[in-house]
Amino acid sequence: MYDLPVLEPTDRFTALTTLNELRGIVLGDPIDHLPPGAELAAITEAAPDLKRELVASGMPSGVTTCDLITLPYPVSFGLWRAARSPAPFLWITNRMIVVQWDDAEGRQRTLLWEASDHEQGEYTPYFAKLKARNPLPESVLATEHGTVLGHLRSLGIAPEDVDYVAFDHLHTQDPRRLVGTTRPAPDLGSSEAPIAPWFPNAVLISQRREWESIRHLHPLQVPWYQPETYRDLPHDRLALVDGDVLLGPGVALIATPGHTAGNMSLALNTSSGVWTSSENGVAAESWAPRVSRIPGLRHWSVEWGQEVILNANTLEFASWQYNSMVLERLLADPAADAPVPQCFPSSELTRNRLAPGVSPTFTHGGIEHGQIRGTSLAGEDEAA
Ligand SMILES: [Zn+2]
Repeated sequence: MYDLPVLEPTDRFTALTTLNELRGIVLGDPIDHLPPGAELAAITEAAPDLKRELVASGMPSGVTTCDLITLPYPVSFGLWRAARSPAPFLWITNRMIVVQWDDAEGRQRTLLWEASDHEQGEYTPYFAKLKARNPLPESVLATEHGTVLGHLRSLGIAPEDVDYVAFDHLHTQDPRRLVGTTRPAPDLGSSEAPIAPWFPNAVLISQRREWESIRHLHPLQVPWYQPETYRDLPHDRLALVDGDVLLGPGVALIATPGHTAGNMSLALNTSSGVWTSSENGVAAESWAPRVSRIPGLRHWSVEWGQEVILNANTLEFASWQYNSMVLERLLADPAADAPVPQCFPSSELTRNRLAPGVSPTFTHGGIEHGQIRGTSLAGEDEAA
């Protein structure tokens, strides 16, 4: 067991009611609450109610998407066994989604979804090994587009006005610079004092199951987590949830276990319909393989009768992940310009000359809605 405390879940968010019990998201319940096939049938029946509940709650005031970094990832993980690519790697672009809404008191709230500190993500055991073995210069493999703080500056959002940060799961994440630490962190250049947080007022929202996974890492999970980076987090900056919660009008976190036990998806009701976002799949067509032109995907889908292609680096609970992707597809509206659902892979497959045969047929690129409102940066600009 890893040296992390047991933390109680928060009750600060509104629980959504339709799917929690059905999926057995209560900690301590058996993990196979229902046989996977029965769960799939139950999800298919219940998803429209959950979608109605989300849509009835309203819409956020603004949503925008910011590119962070494009980097290689094994084809056999991203597209599991479906792609017939001769190349071992595909490329994905990590993106951050910024969501704003007005809460019940009329106060503007800001959520950063997938605000990865990608400099620190490199120390994830899997990526550290990959890097050590790679003979090519870094610049050939990865392209940085921007940083979390740089993008917020461009949007006029002051770091202190970020209320929430959340990830669909905590693979590769080192959250210390986001929410700060209670003790010095010499590896981050702070050997005397704790790390000052980028976001002094934000809480990191995670599923309780994700936290529990990190406390008890299994060998299948070890390559993907940086558990030591959670040890000195201030506990009041963590908000654990069990299952589906509504953060604000048209903004929900939906438990989508499978890729990890505590995986979740962002669901947004926007002017272009409902979107979901996660890393359950790496391409828009991962949720619609029958229309894919990536060699192998359509064939795989038809031959095996599979409706989705899993992002399969760990396959912690493959049938759950499959069901979760079907849930995302049932919640999302169809895209206006492509025959795929609005399931946005927050690490999206990106064309690269080193990856012939795995170019995406369709890309979403991001989610845009309403207006992102800058907050308190005006004064700082004058001072600068
Ligand atoms: Zn992952």
